[in-house]
Amino acid sequence: MRFLPVFLDLQAGPVLVVGAGELVRAKLRLLAAAGASIRWFATDGNPDLSGLAAADAARVERAEGDPLAADLHGVIAILCAGAGEIGVAMSVRAKAVGLPVNVMDDLAHSTFIFPAIVDRGDVVVAIGTGGAAPVVARRVRERIEAVLPARIGDLATFIGRWRKPIHGRIAQMPLRRRFWERVVDGPIGALVLAGRGNEAEQALKNIADPATFAADRALGRVTLVGAGPGDPDLLTVKALRALQDADVVFYDELVSPEILDRARRDASRVPVGRRAGKPGIGQDAINKLMIDAAKSGQRAVRLKGGDPFVFGRGGEEIEALRQAGVACSVVPGITAALGAAAQFEVPLTFRHEALRITFLTAHKAEDADSVDWSTLTDDKMTVVVYMGMTAAASVRSGLLTAGRSPRTPVGVFAKATRPDAQAAVGTLDQLPDLVERIDGGPAILIIGDVVAHSAPWRRQDLNRLYSQLLEAAE
Ligand code: SAH
Repeated sequence: MRFLPVFLDLQAGPVLVVGAGELVRAKLRLLAAAGASIRWFATDGNPDLSGLAAADAARVERAEGDPLAADLHGVIAILCAGAGEIGVAMSVRAKAVGLPVNVMDDLAHSTFIFPAIVDRGDVVVAIGTGGAAPVVARRVRERIEAVLPARIGDLATFIGRWRKPIHGRIAQMPLRRRFWERVVDGPIGALVLAGRGNEAEQALKNIADPATFAADRALGRVTLVGAGPGDPDLLTVKALRALQDADVVFYDELVSPEILDRARRDASRVPVGRRAGKPGIGQDAINKLMIDAAKSGQRAVRLKGGDPFVFGRGGEEIEALRQAGVACSVVPGITAALGAAAQFEVPLTFRHEALRITFLTAHKAEDADSVDWSTLTDDKMTVVVYMGMTAAASVRSGLLTAGRSPRTPVGVFAKATRPDAQAAVGTLDQLPDLVERIDGGPAILIIGDVVAHSAPWRRQDLNRLYSQLLEAAE
């Protein structure tokens, strides 16, 4: 990020505008509508304001003379649009005295730039792309416009009016935050957004003791959230909402930093997973952390790679929470098998070819030895092995001994949906070699005819064909 969005107080002083033509008129309109007082040097000698509404035009004071000699005392920012060389010279002058300056379409001479704006009264959203792509900024603005409630500005104004009185009645900052969150998320906020401001006002006045209202412990809860296989865009809308709402996030080592980034800025982030080779804090300790957090009134998110209920110990955690009397719920996530299947185009089922899917785990060779492979020999079954990298040789021998064909297509899919994803495809008898070709996990094994439909397999076929053609040509 090169440009930090900050908000300029337009009541602090005039904005100096230098320039000419339609470009400058557009900026004059923007500034006037925002309530700025404007001092304008028309560099082409044509100070015509007929394109502006009368109220906006009244905010513009036409300045005479050389802008490079203008009195900058009290000016809060300088803006040049369609001013040519004068704009550049103005920028040098502004920088010399430390005034923020924007020269339109000239990043090198600007110390600030204009964002795209969503304007809902007291709620203003600024969207920037560092000056690189205004079109992208506009698209982002359209999306934000679409999701923001129309009266969100009223809500901000409403809270703004009540801030001081409530501040006086709740001393601790965290409790105050909780108070406003309850107002915003609860019936009072809904009344404001529905345009029933008077009723909202009354409801707020009816709160006898704001501190008790804020401290309601019944609000504490735990949400088990599936983080998906890695790509943050694969989070569900519900997962995102839970993350945005969290006071504390307990996360596994499989959860990528990009996903953790989507949690509310102020949420505390607590790693509870195993680190490569080192043991984690243990399941009982994790359960205790979650229970304590919820009982102290916090909204805790337990963030797990993939789906919480697929080899994620989500079941045990829910049981522990239930026993402790803690409110809990589960938000599913995209499990690794589905992420890898989508990315590498492995249709896990296929008409007439693959009619069943089995997900199993084989963390160590002993785990693989305890699997009853004889139930997995059906050609029409796709087998997905989680945590199967180290036990790949045992998976291979288990399936072969049970009678599955050594020619069965298999794939090793690592870091699926992440930027460094990798795949190696071949046949069941080659499985340990395929694992060798992968630079590291997490990875799943997919075993079954459907792997022959996958993108890496098709690519390999093409390569093979190409080499054969080359050989034939030699
Ligand atoms: N709950 C998770 C699974 C946790 S077990 C889920 O639903 O996906 C951990 C195993 O998941 C890893 O050993 C690996 O086999 C698999 N895994 C997790 N993320 C993966 C990814 N991005 N690509 C490939 N496999 C992954």
